[in-house]
Amino acid sequence: MVQLQNYINGLLVPAANGQYLPNIEPATGQVFSQIPASDAQDVTQAVRAAEAALPAWRRLPAEERGRLLVRIAELIERDLEPLAQAESQDNGKPVSLARTVDIPRAASNFAFFGTAAQHFASETHFQEGVALNYTVRHPLGVVACISPWNLPLYLFTWKIAPALAAGCCVVAKPSEVTPYTAFLLSELCLEAGLPAGVLNIVHGTGPVVGQALVEHPSVKAISFTGGTKTGEHIARTAAPMFKKLSLELGGKNPNLIFADCDLAEAVRTSLRSSFANQGQICLCGSRIFIERSIYEPFKEQFLAGVAGLTVGDPQAADTSQGALVSEAHLEKVLSYIELAHQEGGTLLAGGQRVQVAGRCAGGYFLQPTVFEGLAPDCRVNREEIFGPVVTLTPFDTEEQVLAWANGTEYGLAATIWTRDLNRAHRVAHALHSGIVWINTWLHRDLRTPFGGMKNSGVGREGGLEALRFFTEPQSITVKL
Ligand code: NDP
Repeated sequence: MVQLQNYINGLLVPAANGQYLPNIEPATGQVFSQIPASDAQDVTQAVRAAEAALPAWRRLPAEERGRLLVRIAELIERDLEPLAQAESQDNGKPVSLARTVDIPRAASNFAFFGTAAQHFASETHFQEGVALNYTVRHPLGVVACISPWNLPLYLFTWKIAPALAAGCCVVAKPSEVTPYTAFLLSELCLEAGLPAGVLNIVHGTGPVVGQALVEHPSVKAISFTGGTKTGEHIARTAAPMFKKLSLELGGKNPNLIFADCDLAEAVRTSLRSSFANQGQICLCGSRIFIERSIYEPFKEQFLAGVAGLTVGDPQAADTSQGALVSEAHLEKVLSYIELAHQEGGTLLAGGQRVQVAGRCAGGYFLQPTVFEGLAPDCRVNREEIFGPVVTLTPFDTEEQVLAWANGTEYGLAATIWTRDLNRAHRVAHALHSGIVWINTWLHRDLRTPFGGMKNSGVGREGGLEALRFFTEPQSITVKL
Protein backbone atom coordinates (compact mmCIF):
# COMPACT_ATOMS: atom_id res chain seq x y z
CA MET A 1 0.00 0.00 0.00
CA VAL A 2 1.45 3.38 -1.05
CA GLN A 3 1.71 5.80 1.89
CA LEU A 4 1.75 9.44 0.76
CA GLN A 5 3.53 12.15 2.73
CA ASN A 6 3.23 15.88 3.11
CA TYR A 7 5.95 18.03 1.54
CA ILE A 8 6.89 20.67 4.09
CA ASN A 9 10.10 22.69 4.25
CA GLY A 10 11.77 20.47 1.67
CA LEU A 11 11.01 17.23 3.52
CA LEU A 12 8.51 14.43 2.98
CA VAL A 13 6.80 14.04 6.35
CA PRO A 14 3.69 12.42 7.83
CA ALA A 15 0.92 14.52 9.36
CA ALA A 16 1.86 15.84 12.83
CA ASN A 17 -0.99 13.81 14.33
CA GLY A 18 0.27 10.61 12.65
CA GLN A 19 -3.18 9.91 11.18
CA TYR A 20 -3.95 8.72 7.64
CA LEU A 21 -7.02 8.67 5.40
CA PRO A 22 -7.81 5.86 2.94
CA ASN A 23 -7.54 6.67 -0.77
CA ILE A 24 -9.80 4.65 -3.06
CA GLU A 25 -9.21 3.60 -6.67
CA PRO A 26 -12.52 4.49 -8.39
CA ALA A 27 -12.19 1.75 -11.02
CA THR A 28 -12.11 -0.99 -8.37
CA GLY A 29 -13.66 0.56 -5.27
CA GLN A 30 -10.61 -0.68 -3.31
CA VAL A 31 -8.30 1.33 -1.03
CA PHE A 32 -4.91 1.56 -2.75
CA SER A 33 -3.06 4.22 -0.77
CA GLN A 34 -3.14 6.23 2.42
CA ILE A 35 -2.83 9.97 2.66
CA PRO A 36 -1.83 12.09 5.66
CA ALA A 37 -4.92 13.30 7.54
CA SER A 38 -3.26 16.65 8.17
CA ASP A 39 -4.75 19.42 10.27
CA ALA A 40 -4.08 23.03 11.26
CA GLN A 41 -0.72 22.11 12.88
CA ASP A 42 0.65 20.95 9.52
CA VAL A 43 -0.73 24.04 7.78
CA THR A 44 1.01 26.25 10.36
CA GLN A 45 4.31 24.45 9.83
CA ALA A 46 3.96 24.75 6.07
CA VAL A 47 3.13 28.47 6.23
CA ARG A 48 6.15 29.05 8.51
CA ALA A 49 8.39 27.20 6.06
CA ALA A 50 7.02 29.28 3.19
CA GLU A 51 7.56 32.52 5.13
CA ALA A 52 11.15 31.52 5.89
CA ALA A 53 11.83 30.69 2.22
CA LEU A 54 10.21 33.84 0.86
CA PRO A 55 13.00 36.47 1.15
CA ALA A 56 15.52 34.40 -0.81
CA TRP A 57 12.98 33.16 -3.38
CA ARG A 58 11.59 36.59 -4.23
CA ARG A 59 15.14 37.99 -4.56
CA LEU A 60 16.19 35.22 -6.95
CA PRO A 61 16.38 36.59 -10.52
CA ALA A 62 13.38 35.58 -12.62
CA GLU A 63 15.67 33.60 -14.95
CA GLU A 64 16.82 31.39 -12.07
CA ARG A 65 13.30 30.84 -10.78
CA GLY A 66 12.31 30.08 -14.36
CA ARG A 67 15.17 27.61 -14.81
CA LEU A 68 13.96 25.61 -11.77
CA LEU A 69 10.40 25.55 -13.08
CA VAL A 70 11.54 24.40 -16.50
CA ARG A 71 13.58 21.66 -14.79
CA ILE A 72 10.41 20.46 -13.03
CA ALA A 73 8.63 20.46 -16.41
CA GLU A 74 11.39 18.25 -17.84
CA LEU A 75 11.09 15.81 -14.94
CA ILE A 76 7.31 15.60 -15.42
CA GLU A 77 7.92 14.83 -19.11
CA ARG A 78 10.49 12.19 -18.18
CA ASP A 79 7.98 10.54 -15.81
CA LEU A 80 5.03 10.88 -18.19
CA GLU A 81 4.09 7.21 -18.07
CA PRO A 82 4.21 6.57 -14.28
CA LEU A 83 2.43 9.88 -13.67
CA ALA A 84 -0.28 8.99 -16.22
CA GLN A 85 -0.73 5.58 -14.60
CA ALA A 86 -0.98 7.18 -11.14
CA GLU A 87 -3.51 9.80 -12.32
CA SER A 88 -5.66 7.14 -13.93
CA GLN A 89 -5.56 4.90 -10.87
CA ASP A 90 -6.39 7.78 -8.52
CA ASN A 91 -9.10 9.45 -10.59
CA GLY A 92 -10.64 6.66 -12.70
CA LYS A 93 -9.93 8.44 -16.02
CA PRO A 94 -8.66 6.41 -18.99
CA VAL A 95 -4.89 6.20 -18.86
CA SER A 96 -4.87 7.26 -22.52
CA LEU A 97 -6.43 10.60 -21.50
CA ALA A 98 -3.98 11.14 -18.64
CA ARG A 99 -1.11 10.32 -21.03
CA THR A 100 -2.22 12.71 -23.77
CA VAL A 101 -3.88 15.54 -21.82
CA ASP A 102 -3.38 15.71 -18.06
CA ILE A 103 0.33 15.03 -17.66
CA PRO A 104 1.61 16.82 -20.80
CA ARG A 105 -0.40 19.87 -19.73
CA ALA A 106 1.10 19.75 -16.21
CA ALA A 107 4.56 19.86 -17.81
CA SER A 108 3.45 22.72 -20.11
CA ASN A 109 2.19 24.69 -17.12
CA PHE A 110 5.65 24.67 -15.52
CA ALA A 111 7.47 25.31 -18.81
CA PHE A 112 5.07 28.11 -19.78
CA PHE A 113 5.28 30.04 -16.50
CA GLY A 114 8.99 29.28 -16.11
CA THR A 115 9.62 31.22 -19.30
CA ALA A 116 6.73 33.71 -18.84
CA ALA A 117 8.41 35.03 -15.68
CA GLN A 118 11.19 36.33 -17.89
CA HIS A 119 8.80 38.18 -20.20
CA PHE A 120 6.68 39.73 -17.45
CA ALA A 121 7.06 43.51 -17.78
CA SER A 122 5.65 46.34 -15.72
CA GLU A 123 4.25 49.60 -17.08
CA THR A 124 5.78 53.06 -17.32
CA HIS A 125 3.72 56.24 -17.80
CA PHE A 126 5.79 59.19 -18.87
CA GLN A 127 4.37 62.72 -18.42
CA GLU A 128 6.46 64.93 -20.70
CA GLY A 129 8.53 67.35 -18.63
CA VAL A 130 6.52 66.63 -15.48
CA ALA A 131 7.01 63.17 -14.07
CA LEU A 132 7.99 59.59 -14.71
CA ASN A 133 5.54 57.07 -13.25
CA TYR A 134 6.52 53.46 -13.11
CA THR A 135 4.93 50.37 -11.63
CA VAL A 136 6.71 47.73 -9.62
CA ARG A 137 4.99 44.37 -9.20
CA HIS A 138 5.95 42.79 -5.89
CA PRO A 139 5.25 39.11 -5.19
CA LEU A 140 2.28 38.89 -2.80
CA GLY A 141 4.13 36.67 -0.33
CA VAL A 142 2.82 33.34 0.92
CA VAL A 143 -0.18 32.17 -1.09
CA ALA A 144 -2.53 29.17 -0.99
CA CYS A 145 -3.42 27.03 -4.02
CA ILE A 146 -6.43 24.71 -3.61
CA SER A 147 -7.46 22.43 -6.46
CA PRO A 148 -10.20 19.88 -7.27
CA TRP A 149 -10.19 16.20 -8.24
CA ASN A 150 -11.23 16.23 -11.89
CA LEU A 151 -7.92 17.22 -13.53
CA PRO A 152 -5.68 16.69 -10.52
CA LEU A 153 -2.09 17.46 -11.58
CA TYR A 154 -3.20 19.65 -14.50
CA LEU A 155 -5.10 22.13 -12.32
CA PHE A 156 -2.76 21.87 -9.32
CA THR A 157 0.23 22.94 -11.45
CA TRP A 158 -1.84 25.59 -13.28
CA LYS A 159 -1.92 27.47 -9.96
CA ILE A 160 1.41 26.59 -8.43
CA ALA A 161 3.57 27.40 -11.47
CA PRO A 162 2.50 31.06 -11.89
CA ALA A 163 2.65 31.66 -8.13
CA LEU A 164 6.23 30.41 -7.98
CA ALA A 165 7.15 32.24 -11.19
CA ALA A 166 5.87 35.49 -9.72
CA GLY A 167 8.14 35.05 -6.69
CA CYS A 168 5.55 33.86 -4.17
CA CYS A 169 6.01 30.87 -1.86
CA VAL A 170 3.16 28.41 -1.88
CA VAL A 171 1.22 26.17 0.45
CA ALA A 172 -0.89 23.93 -1.76
CA LYS A 173 -3.67 21.47 -1.07
CA PRO A 174 -4.77 18.95 -3.69
CA SER A 175 -8.17 17.32 -3.37
CA GLU A 176 -8.11 14.56 -0.79
CA VAL A 177 -9.98 12.48 -3.40
CA THR A 178 -7.04 12.56 -5.88
CA PRO A 179 -3.79 13.34 -4.01
CA TYR A 180 -1.42 10.87 -5.67
CA THR A 181 0.21 12.90 -8.46
CA ALA A 182 0.61 15.91 -6.14
CA PHE A 183 2.71 13.63 -3.92
CA LEU A 184 4.73 12.46 -6.93
CA LEU A 185 5.24 16.12 -7.86
CA SER A 186 6.76 16.79 -4.44
CA GLU A 187 9.33 14.07 -5.14
CA LEU A 188 10.14 15.71 -8.48
CA CYS A 189 10.54 19.13 -6.81
CA LEU A 190 13.10 17.60 -4.44
CA GLU A 191 14.94 16.09 -7.40
CA ALA A 192 14.85 19.42 -9.27
CA GLY A 193 16.49 21.15 -6.31
CA LEU A 194 13.63 23.53 -5.53
CA PRO A 195 14.76 25.31 -2.32
CA ALA A 196 13.12 24.08 0.89
CA GLY A 197 9.87 25.83 1.82
CA VAL A 198 9.26 27.46 -1.58
CA LEU A 199 6.51 24.94 -2.31
CA ASN A 200 4.75 23.02 0.45
CA ILE A 201 2.02 20.45 -0.17
CA VAL A 202 -0.32 19.56 2.68
CA HIS A 203 -2.70 16.63 2.20
CA GLY A 204 -6.02 16.26 3.98
CA THR A 205 -9.66 17.23 3.77
CA GLY A 206 -11.08 20.52 2.57
CA PRO A 207 -12.97 21.41 5.74
CA VAL A 208 -9.82 20.84 7.86
CA VAL A 209 -6.68 21.61 5.81
CA GLY A 210 -8.34 23.86 3.22
CA GLN A 211 -10.20 25.80 5.88
CA ALA A 212 -7.04 26.26 8.01
CA LEU A 213 -5.20 27.59 4.96
CA VAL A 214 -7.95 30.03 4.05
CA GLU A 215 -8.12 31.27 7.66
CA HIS A 216 -4.37 31.60 8.18
CA PRO A 217 -3.52 35.31 8.61
CA SER A 218 -0.14 34.99 6.84
CA VAL A 219 -1.69 33.63 3.64
CA LYS A 220 -2.09 36.68 1.40
CA ALA A 221 -4.04 35.19 -1.49
CA ILE A 222 -6.06 32.12 -2.34
CA SER A 223 -6.21 30.63 -5.79
CA PHE A 224 -9.08 28.15 -5.70
CA THR A 225 -10.71 25.88 -8.26
CA GLY A 226 -13.73 23.87 -7.21
CA GLY A 227 -17.46 24.01 -6.61
CA THR A 228 -19.41 27.28 -6.44
CA LYS A 229 -20.66 26.57 -2.89
CA THR A 230 -17.11 25.96 -1.62
CA GLY A 231 -15.96 29.13 -3.41
CA GLU A 232 -18.71 31.10 -1.72
CA HIS A 233 -17.67 29.73 1.68
CA ILE A 234 -14.01 30.61 1.01
CA ALA A 235 -14.95 34.14 -0.07
CA ARG A 236 -16.98 34.62 3.10
CA THR A 237 -14.04 33.51 5.26
CA ALA A 238 -11.31 35.37 3.40
CA ALA A 239 -13.01 38.67 2.53
CA PRO A 240 -12.91 40.21 6.05
CA MET A 241 -9.12 39.62 6.04
CA PHE A 242 -8.85 41.41 2.63
CA LYS A 243 -7.16 38.45 1.00
CA LYS A 244 -6.85 38.44 -2.74
CA LEU A 245 -9.05 35.75 -4.30
CA SER A 246 -9.07 33.95 -7.63
CA LEU A 247 -12.07 31.63 -7.77
CA GLU A 248 -12.61 29.20 -10.67
CA LEU A 249 -15.99 27.62 -10.01
CA GLY A 250 -18.70 25.48 -11.57
CA GLY A 251 -20.31 25.61 -14.99
CA LYS A 252 -23.39 24.55 -16.95
CA ASN A 253 -22.07 25.10 -20.41
CA PRO A 254 -24.18 25.33 -23.57
CA ASN A 255 -23.33 24.11 -27.08
CA LEU A 256 -25.15 26.19 -29.72
CA ILE A 257 -25.43 24.18 -32.95
CA PHE A 258 -26.70 26.23 -35.90
CA ALA A 259 -28.09 24.63 -39.07
CA ASP A 260 -25.25 25.92 -41.27
CA CYS A 261 -22.52 24.21 -39.25
CA ASP A 262 -20.23 21.39 -40.34
CA LEU A 263 -22.54 18.76 -38.88
CA ALA A 264 -20.07 15.87 -38.75
CA GLU A 265 -17.51 18.03 -36.94
CA ALA A 266 -20.13 19.47 -34.57
CA VAL A 267 -21.25 15.95 -33.66
CA ARG A 268 -17.70 14.63 -33.23
CA THR A 269 -16.63 17.52 -31.00
CA SER A 270 -19.90 17.58 -29.05
CA LEU A 271 -19.32 13.92 -28.18
CA ARG A 272 -15.94 14.90 -26.72
CA SER A 273 -17.28 17.98 -24.96
CA SER A 274 -20.06 15.87 -23.44
CA PHE A 275 -18.17 12.79 -22.28
CA ALA A 276 -14.43 13.50 -22.04
CA ASN A 277 -13.21 12.54 -18.56
CA GLN A 278 -16.72 11.09 -17.97
CA GLY A 279 -18.15 14.62 -18.27
CA GLN A 280 -16.13 15.70 -15.25
CA ILE A 281 -14.48 18.76 -16.80
CA CYS A 282 -15.73 22.18 -15.78
CA LEU A 283 -15.68 23.10 -19.50
CA CYS A 284 -17.82 20.17 -20.69
CA GLY A 285 -20.94 21.22 -22.58
CA SER A 286 -23.93 19.62 -20.90
CA ARG A 287 -26.76 21.50 -22.64
CA ILE A 288 -26.79 20.95 -26.39
CA PHE A 289 -29.11 23.31 -28.26
CA ILE A 290 -29.66 22.35 -31.92
CA GLU A 291 -31.42 24.42 -34.59
CA ARG A 292 -34.68 22.61 -35.33
CA SER A 293 -34.01 21.93 -39.03
CA ILE A 294 -30.99 19.75 -38.19
CA TYR A 295 -32.25 18.40 -34.85
CA GLU A 296 -33.07 14.90 -36.10
CA PRO A 297 -29.87 14.32 -38.14
CA PHE A 298 -27.76 15.70 -35.27
CA LYS A 299 -29.55 13.47 -32.77
CA GLU A 300 -29.19 10.39 -34.94
CA GLN A 301 -25.44 10.90 -35.51
CA PHE A 302 -24.81 11.90 -31.89
CA LEU A 303 -26.55 8.78 -30.56
CA ALA A 304 -24.60 6.61 -33.00
CA GLY A 305 -21.42 8.16 -31.57
CA VAL A 306 -22.57 7.53 -27.99
CA ALA A 307 -23.21 3.88 -28.85
CA GLY A 308 -19.57 3.64 -29.96
CA LEU A 309 -18.14 4.81 -26.62
CA THR A 310 -16.58 2.04 -24.54
CA VAL A 311 -17.05 2.08 -20.78
CA GLY A 312 -14.44 -0.04 -19.04
CA ASP A 313 -11.18 -0.49 -17.18
CA PRO A 314 -9.29 2.83 -17.41
CA GLN A 315 -6.10 0.86 -18.06
CA ALA A 316 -7.47 -0.80 -21.20
CA ALA A 317 -6.33 0.77 -24.47
CA ASP A 318 -9.83 0.76 -26.02
CA THR A 319 -11.60 2.40 -23.05
CA SER A 320 -13.02 5.83 -23.77
CA GLN A 321 -15.09 6.11 -20.58
CA GLY A 322 -13.46 5.29 -17.25
CA ALA A 323 -14.94 5.35 -13.75
CA LEU A 324 -16.53 8.32 -12.01
CA VAL A 325 -14.31 9.66 -9.28
CA SER A 326 -16.11 8.28 -6.21
CA GLU A 327 -19.16 6.39 -5.07
CA ALA A 328 -20.63 9.58 -3.57
CA HIS A 329 -20.21 11.39 -6.89
CA LEU A 330 -21.74 8.47 -8.82
CA GLU A 331 -24.75 8.60 -6.48
CA LYS A 332 -25.07 12.35 -7.08
CA VAL A 333 -25.04 11.89 -10.87
CA LEU A 334 -27.55 9.02 -10.64
CA SER A 335 -29.84 11.28 -8.58
CA TYR A 336 -29.85 13.78 -11.47
CA ILE A 337 -30.76 11.00 -13.92
CA GLU A 338 -33.70 10.19 -11.66
CA LEU A 339 -34.59 13.89 -11.56
CA ALA A 340 -34.46 14.10 -15.36
CA HIS A 341 -37.10 11.33 -15.52
CA GLN A 342 -39.23 13.15 -12.93
CA GLU A 343 -38.94 16.41 -14.88
CA GLY A 344 -40.39 14.72 -17.95
CA GLY A 345 -37.24 13.96 -19.95
CA THR A 346 -37.07 11.16 -22.50
CA LEU A 347 -34.03 8.93 -22.08
CA LEU A 348 -32.30 8.47 -25.43
CA ALA A 349 -29.17 6.64 -24.26
CA GLY A 350 -27.55 5.27 -21.11
CA GLY A 351 -28.95 6.09 -17.69
CA GLN A 352 -27.61 3.00 -15.91
CA ARG A 353 -24.65 1.99 -13.80
CA VAL A 354 -22.25 -0.31 -15.65
CA GLN A 355 -20.92 -3.52 -14.12
CA VAL A 356 -17.42 -4.05 -15.51
CA ALA A 357 -16.14 -7.60 -15.21
CA GLY A 358 -12.90 -8.67 -13.56
CA ARG A 359 -10.74 -6.39 -11.41
CA CYS A 360 -13.16 -3.47 -11.95
CA ALA A 361 -16.26 -5.28 -10.63
CA GLY A 362 -16.52 -2.87 -7.68
CA GLY A 363 -15.89 0.31 -9.72
CA TYR A 364 -18.05 3.40 -10.17
CA PHE A 365 -18.98 3.19 -13.85
CA LEU A 366 -21.90 4.88 -15.58
CA GLN A 367 -23.22 4.76 -19.12
CA PRO A 368 -22.93 7.98 -21.14
CA THR A 369 -26.43 9.37 -20.82
CA VAL A 370 -28.54 11.54 -23.15
CA PHE A 371 -32.00 13.03 -22.53
CA GLU A 372 -34.33 15.10 -24.68
CA GLY A 373 -37.65 16.78 -24.02
CA LEU A 374 -36.60 18.70 -20.91
CA ALA A 375 -37.60 22.33 -20.41
CA PRO A 376 -34.62 24.69 -20.81
CA ASP A 377 -35.25 26.07 -17.31
CA CYS A 378 -35.75 22.77 -15.45
CA ARG A 379 -33.29 21.85 -12.68
CA VAL A 380 -31.43 19.32 -14.83
CA ASN A 381 -30.77 22.11 -17.34
CA ARG A 382 -29.78 24.67 -14.71
CA GLU A 383 -27.73 22.77 -12.08
CA GLU A 384 -24.21 21.44 -12.55
CA ILE A 385 -24.22 17.63 -12.72
CA PHE A 386 -20.52 17.20 -13.52
CA GLY A 387 -20.93 13.75 -15.03
CA PRO A 388 -21.65 12.01 -18.35
CA VAL A 389 -25.20 13.37 -18.70
CA VAL A 390 -26.30 15.76 -21.45
CA THR A 391 -29.58 17.10 -22.77
CA LEU A 392 -30.61 17.79 -26.38
CA THR A 393 -33.03 20.65 -27.08
CA PRO A 394 -34.22 22.06 -30.44
CA PHE A 395 -34.35 25.85 -30.93
CA ASP A 396 -35.94 28.10 -33.56
CA THR A 397 -34.23 31.49 -33.35
CA GLU A 398 -30.93 33.05 -32.31
CA GLU A 399 -32.71 35.16 -29.66
CA GLN A 400 -34.33 32.08 -28.17
CA VAL A 401 -31.14 30.06 -27.92
CA LEU A 402 -29.22 33.00 -26.46
CA ALA A 403 -31.84 33.44 -23.75
CA TRP A 404 -31.67 29.74 -22.89
CA ALA A 405 -27.87 29.61 -23.04
CA ASN A 406 -27.62 32.59 -20.67
CA GLY A 407 -30.44 31.37 -18.45
CA THR A 408 -28.39 29.82 -15.65
CA GLU A 409 -26.45 31.21 -12.72
CA TYR A 410 -23.23 30.00 -14.39
CA GLY A 411 -21.13 31.59 -17.14
CA LEU A 412 -17.98 29.57 -17.67
CA ALA A 413 -17.77 28.34 -21.27
CA ALA A 414 -19.83 27.90 -24.45
CA THR A 415 -19.37 26.55 -27.94
CA ILE A 416 -20.93 27.95 -31.14
CA TRP A 417 -21.20 25.89 -34.33
CA THR A 418 -21.82 27.88 -37.50
CA ARG A 419 -20.17 28.81 -40.80
CA ASP A 420 -21.60 32.35 -40.62
CA LEU A 421 -18.76 34.53 -39.37
CA ASN A 422 -21.00 37.49 -38.52
CA ARG A 423 -23.32 35.32 -36.48
CA ALA A 424 -20.40 33.62 -34.75
CA HIS A 425 -19.05 36.92 -33.45
CA ARG A 426 -22.48 38.39 -32.68
CA VAL A 427 -23.54 35.37 -30.64
CA ALA A 428 -20.15 35.09 -28.91
CA HIS A 429 -20.37 38.71 -27.74
CA ALA A 430 -23.92 38.18 -26.46
CA LEU A 431 -23.08 35.06 -24.44
CA HIS A 432 -22.47 35.52 -20.73
CA SER A 433 -19.50 33.15 -20.77
CA GLY A 434 -15.89 33.80 -19.84
CA ILE A 435 -14.75 31.45 -22.61
CA VAL A 436 -16.38 30.97 -26.03
CA TRP A 437 -15.18 28.45 -28.60
CA ILE A 438 -16.32 28.80 -32.21
CA ASN A 439 -16.29 25.53 -34.18
CA THR A 440 -13.96 23.94 -31.63
CA TRP A 441 -13.80 22.94 -27.98
CA LEU A 442 -11.08 22.87 -25.33
CA HIS A 443 -8.62 24.60 -27.60
CA ARG A 444 -6.26 26.29 -25.15
CA ASP A 445 -3.55 28.87 -25.60
CA LEU A 446 -2.02 29.34 -22.16
CA ARG A 447 -1.62 33.08 -22.78
CA THR A 448 -5.37 33.74 -22.89
CA PRO A 449 -7.38 34.80 -19.81
CA PHE A 450 -9.20 31.79 -18.37
CA GLY A 451 -12.21 32.01 -16.06
CA GLY A 452 -15.92 32.43 -15.71
CA MET A 453 -18.61 35.10 -15.41
CA LYS A 454 -21.48 35.15 -12.89
CA ASN A 455 -21.31 32.29 -10.36
CA SER A 456 -18.59 30.54 -12.35
CA GLY A 457 -15.93 32.60 -10.71
CA VAL A 458 -14.04 35.75 -9.90
CA GLY A 459 -10.78 36.69 -11.59
CA ARG A 460 -8.89 35.10 -14.45
CA GLU A 461 -6.05 32.62 -14.65
CA GLY A 462 -3.60 32.12 -17.50
CA GLY A 463 -0.72 34.11 -18.98
CA LEU A 464 -0.13 37.57 -17.63
CA GLU A 465 -3.42 37.53 -15.72
CA ALA A 466 -2.05 34.83 -13.42
CA LEU A 467 1.25 36.63 -12.90
CA ARG A 468 -0.65 39.84 -12.15
CA PHE A 469 -2.84 38.00 -9.64
CA PHE A 470 0.14 36.78 -7.65
CA THR A 471 1.75 40.24 -7.54
CA GLU A 472 0.88 43.56 -5.92
CA PRO A 473 1.40 46.64 -8.11
CA GLN A 474 3.12 49.65 -6.56
CA SER A 475 3.10 53.01 -8.37
CA ILE A 476 6.21 55.14 -8.04
CA THR A 477 6.33 58.72 -9.33
CA VAL A 478 9.53 60.71 -9.91
CA LYS A 479 9.18 64.46 -10.46
CA LEU A 480 11.22 65.59 -13.43
P1 NDP B 1 -14.91 21.15 -4.12
O1 NDP B 1 -15.35 22.56 -4.06
O2 NDP B 1 -15.61 20.16 -3.31
O3 NDP B 1 -13.38 21.03 -3.72
C1 NDP B 1 -12.34 21.77 -4.34
C2 NDP B 1 -11.16 21.85 -3.39
O4 NDP B 1 -11.54 22.63 -2.26
C3 NDP B 1 -10.74 20.49 -2.85
O5 NDP B 1 -9.33 20.49 -2.69
C4 NDP B 1 -11.44 20.46 -1.51
O6 NDP B 1 -10.82 19.60 -0.61
C5 NDP B 1 -11.28 21.91 -1.07
N1 NDP B 1 -12.19 22.36 -0.03
C6 NDP B 1 -13.39 21.83 0.35
N2 NDP B 1 -13.90 22.55 1.39
C7 NDP B 1 -13.03 23.54 1.65
C8 NDP B 1 -12.99 24.62 2.61
N3 NDP B 1 -13.95 24.80 3.51
N4 NDP B 1 -11.95 25.46 2.58
C9 NDP B 1 -10.96 25.31 1.68
N5 NDP B 1 -10.92 24.31 0.77
C10 NDP B 1 -11.95 23.44 0.75
O7 NDP B 1 -14.92 20.78 -5.66
P2 NDP B 1 -14.65 19.36 -6.29
O8 NDP B 1 -13.31 18.85 -5.86
O9 NDP B 1 -15.86 18.52 -6.07
O10 NDP B 1 -14.51 19.73 -7.83
C11 NDP B 1 -15.59 19.82 -8.69
C12 NDP B 1 -15.99 21.26 -8.90
O11 NDP B 1 -14.88 22.01 -9.39
C13 NDP B 1 -17.07 21.41 -9.94
O12 NDP B 1 -18.03 22.32 -9.49
C14 NDP B 1 -16.34 22.00 -11.13
O13 NDP B 1 -17.13 22.75 -11.99
C15 NDP B 1 -15.31 22.83 -10.46
N6 NDP B 1 -14.22 23.09 -11.38
C16 NDP B 1 -14.07 24.35 -11.90
C17 NDP B 1 -13.07 24.61 -12.83
C18 NDP B 1 -12.88 26.00 -13.38
O14 NDP B 1 -11.82 26.24 -13.94
N7 NDP B 1 -13.82 26.89 -13.26
C19 NDP B 1 -12.17 23.55 -13.30
C20 NDP B 1 -12.41 22.28 -12.68
C21 NDP B 1 -13.40 22.06 -11.75
P3 NDP B 1 -11.22 18.01 -0.52
O15 NDP B 1 -11.61 17.56 -1.87
O16 NDP B 1 -9.97 17.41 -0.07
O17 NDP B 1 -12.32 17.95 0.46
